[in-house]
Amino acid sequence: MQEKGSISIHTENIFPIIKKFLYSDNEIFLRELVSNAVDATQKIKRLASLGQYNGELGNLRVEVAFDADKKTITISDNGLGMTAEEIKKYINQIAFSGATEFVEKFKEAKDANEIIGRFGLGFYSAFMVADRVDIETLSYQEGAEPARWTCDGSTEFEISEGSLAERGTEITLHINAESEEFLDKHKLQGILDKYAKFLPVPIKFGTTTQEEEDGEDEEGKPKYKSVEMDNIINDTTPIWTKSPSELKDEDYLKFYKELYPYSEDPLFWIHLNVDYPFNLTGVLYFPKLKNDFEITKNKIKLFSRQVFITDEVKDIVPEFLMLLHGVIDSPDIPLNVSRSFLQADSAVKKINTYITKKVADKLSDLFKADRKGFEEKWGDIGLFVKYGMISEDKFYDKAKDYVLVTNTKKENFTLAEYRDKVEATQTDKDGQVVYIYTNDPEKQDAFIQSATKKGYDVMVMNSPIDTHFISQLEQKLEKTQLKRVDADVADKLIKKDENPESVLTEEQSTKVQEIFDKAINKPAYKVKLESLSPDELPVTVTMDEFMRRMKDMAAMGGGM
Ligand code: ADP
Ligand code: MG
Repeated sequence: MQEKGSISIHTENIFPIIKKFLYSDNEIFLRELVSNAVDATQKIKRLASLGQYNGELGNLRVEVAFDADKKTITISDNGLGMTAEEIKKYINQIAFSGATEFVEKFKEAKDANEIIGRFGLGFYSAFMVADRVDIETLSYQEGAEPARWTCDGSTEFEISEGSLAERGTEITLHINAESEEFLDKHKLQGILDKYAKFLPVPIKFGTTTQEEEDGEDEEGKPKYKSVEMDNIINDTTPIWTKSPSELKDEDYLKFYKELYPYSEDPLFWIHLNVDYPFNLTGVLYFPKLKNDFEITKNKIKLFSRQVFITDEVKDIVPEFLMLLHGVIDSPDIPLNVSRSFLQADSAVKKINTYITKKVADKLSDLFKADRKGFEEKWGDIGLFVKYGMISEDKFYDKAKDYVLVTNTKKENFTLAEYRDKVEATQTDKDGQVVYIYTNDPEKQDAFIQSATKKGYDVMVMNSPIDTHFISQLEQKLEKTQLKRVDADVADKLIKKDENPESVLTEEQSTKVQEIFDKAINKPAYKVKLESLSPDELPVTVTMDEFMRRMKDMAAMGGGM
């Protein structure tokens, strides 16, 4: 049996495209071939569970090997294999995805989802690094003959009798001259670590030696011998595939260390698990945030059925959630489409909403369960919560119940509590409640003292995000204004302590006032003598809120 042919018409231009556009990312050939091999083992398992295969399953596994002399890389599996007919159907007609048909056929069966979907070019990505690819395969089907397929990257192929004696598939890549870097143990190990570390079947890559106890010597001390062990590169059941009830805090922390060996322990985490209306699992960690968002961002790893896809999750999770760390695994995220399409994709939108809600709810639970603990963590999570409230309305709506504001006395309040605290005393003549804040407690100390003396409360709003958070609050809170303490804000409020007696006579006051006015002599500033008791500040120089904002804007280069 030997047959030559040419690969179906769809493929006419595929090789140049593969080579040209994917070249920069050519290491993904290994991800594709290994995931096909994993698929094949999942499929045979599935067939056995459906009673359509009665033979031995054996130890399902995938093996990756290379031979630097022969310049080959081989990926083999003991999955379901293919008949010659199937090769023609699934390999030759590349526009036709076997996985699609398989899923279609076993749609009713539970777990059909386990079959990894299509990742774009799949099998043919092998030609990014190989001049020639051979397939040796033996199907699980009764009476199947082994088959062999070979193709040199043109659209010509050859099918002949194969030599495989056991069920499964072995794919050999004859590595091309430009890709010889892949014929290296460390290189391959690195790629496998990246893409295959959490695949659901054991992936073997070479062997390692290990010391094993081997009886005792005359003195009764244990003896050791070296044994060769399969080098299994992956953890087939990473924590996100398990149920939260099976897991302890240590497990989550250990996994975090595995993902980010150089990071401090996270503050807490959320285990995601949903299967309707989309499928998504994962664990998201709250890291200790640094002020420098850019460095902290982009740590979430995206998987699809345990195959690593990318750590660029922009457009898949909301911007503010990119500050979190961890993994998301979803077969429902389309992988090979443009970014703008992703943003519009309805599954992605639902995933966004779901994750946002989960995160908001987790924070709410923490707040309700342990207010004190929540306040202690606030220094680390506050930035994140405010960032979320600014960037996502849905998140604002939830987080407004537990976002904390802190005053100069280091007391924490929710927005509702704060309202209660200041509503009665801090109202201006238009009936607006005025929240007074400082963005620099040290520099504005004099004003803070003077406001607190008058019985007003001053919030501390001195993190980089607070400028935006203040505008957000002004927009969202009804009848509320936020004013910086150094404006003449305190004076405009209606209810304050009755005027204490001044130590100066009216005549003295006028004189002093004149002296100050003359010395300062700038229209933007106002000089005010306070009603003085000897321990109070005798005089304040203020700038009107409007003038101050204008000045700030000018300083920021936004000149008007
Ligand atoms: P996809 O995986 O998206 O279906 P690929 O191009 O990666 O697309 O693979 C095409 C098809 O070839 C697979 O769907 C499968 O039917 C078949 N195939 C590839 N590799 C193997 C393998 N190792 N064992 C059995 N079938 C395979
Ligand atoms: Mg594939």
